[in-house]
Amino acid sequence: MRQVFEILHKDAMGRIGKLETPHGSVETPALMPVINPNIDFITPSEMKKFGAEILITNSYIIYRTSKLREKALKNGLHSLLGVDLPVMTDSGSYQLMVYGDVEIDNRTIVEFQNRIGSDIVVPLDIPTPPDADFDTARNDLNITLEREREAHQIHFQNDNPLLLAAPVQGSTHPELRRKSAEEVQNLGDVIPVGGVVPLLDTYRFADVAKIILEVKSVISPIKPIHLFGAGHPMVFSLFTALGCDLFDSAAYALYAKDDRYLTPYGTKKLAELQYFPCSCPVCLSHTPEELRRMDKKERQMLMAEHNLYVSFEELRRVKQAIRDNTLFELVESRIRNHPSLVAAWRAVRKYVALMEKYDPTMKKVFFYTSADSCSRPAISRHHERVLRIDVEKEGVTISTDHGIAADFYLKPVFGVVPAEMLEVYPAGHAEMPESDVEIEAFLIAVEGLRKFLAYHRDKKFRIFASEVWREYLKDLPENAVIIWR
Ligand SMILES: [Zn+2]
Repeated sequence: MRQVFEILHKDAMGRIGKLETPHGSVETPALMPVINPNIDFITPSEMKKFGAEILITNSYIIYRTSKLREKALKNGLHSLLGVDLPVMTDSGSYQLMVYGDVEIDNRTIVEFQNRIGSDIVVPLDIPTPPDADFDTARNDLNITLEREREAHQIHFQNDNPLLLAAPVQGSTHPELRRKSAEEVQNLGDVIPVGGVVPLLDTYRFADVAKIILEVKSVISPIKPIHLFGAGHPMVFSLFTALGCDLFDSAAYALYAKDDRYLTPYGTKKLAELQYFPCSCPVCLSHTPEELRRMDKKERQMLMAEHNLYVSFEELRRVKQAIRDNTLFELVESRIRNHPSLVAAWRAVRKYVALMEKYDPTMKKVFFYTSADSCSRPAISRHHERVLRIDVEKEGVTISTDHGIAADFYLKPVFGVVPAEMLEVYPAGHAEMPESDVEIEAFLIAVEGLRKFLAYHRDKKFRIFASEVWREYLKDLPENAVIIWR
């Protein structure tokens, strides 16, 4: 497969990357506003002012509307939309999911997207709904894979500069998602994860997280991943941290239509807002009451503009967090805004080994934000690393108090920290509350201590411990004595 994606910076499993398209390169993670070519709303070229670098529209709608189809075939997709940005086109799969049927076949829509010059062409995959029985999901997936192989054959007949997307399907069955990912990575330049909209709509973020991680567990890291249908800014940090590079937003318009106001921490109803918690041009120059009094059309436009401003703002925040290596800190603060996000982040714990493969080993700081910080790869790595350290002395000292000279120190979350590592990332660069740290932080530390003591069972340890450790320092191996201070 050719290489169209370059990774520039990494944090957690997230990355800042560069996707090359015939209409220029796009910095990822990127948000693609959805353009409905039949609706006169925010125009494609206006999307630039919000920060859009790439758009997505629907080739099926263009194909089915004869006026649009003729224009697109004659002058190309970009001329039809009046924009020079890269444009991805969907194939009608969404309509297939909503209406159960489409009046088009795979070959026709793939050839059509190629003829109109879409930057990213999508085959007619079948978005199997979540919780479908295994046989249905497998049969659907087999048809999808057949169509993707056909699309690959059509698309790459010549030296085609347009990109091909090859979506992953498989409903909520991990083995099918993995099988799908393994096959499509050899077919597509871009890999969308499809069929997750019903999960996103019902806040089943944990299931979405698991699907993404199953895909990431088999797919080459160099493949750009598009989370199809994820357009709410509250999920950008989470799903970027799991390795998604492209998002698309119909949300900006759909929410505006229902007088719903997007924020990075959830959705607000315009009817319930007395103040706008935002400084975008719309919110600075209007009050919620003024918007409520406007006619529907004008209000909808302004709400959509706010929704776009705030979505791109959150995306920039996520990118800066990647550059600062503070994406974990950002995700841990964002998940506080909804229990379903907390659940999703906790579901990710099972994949810590996968996360460890991606997450950079050296960072500047470790900000402890909550018990969730205990699950970061930096912690599991530290615990493993300490076990491999040689202990040469016979009588070894460990202290919970940094003021006492000792060979090792005992720190919440990190457990055993060699004196020479007190200034080194992560333990030495950790910012934690001075007192009242969560129980989990002590439990994980003592668990690490127990393993360390058991590993060096031929040595004797004296542990100088302060009272806060008393209820946790229990059931230690016999080679340790505790001196309470
Ligand atoms: Zn605003």
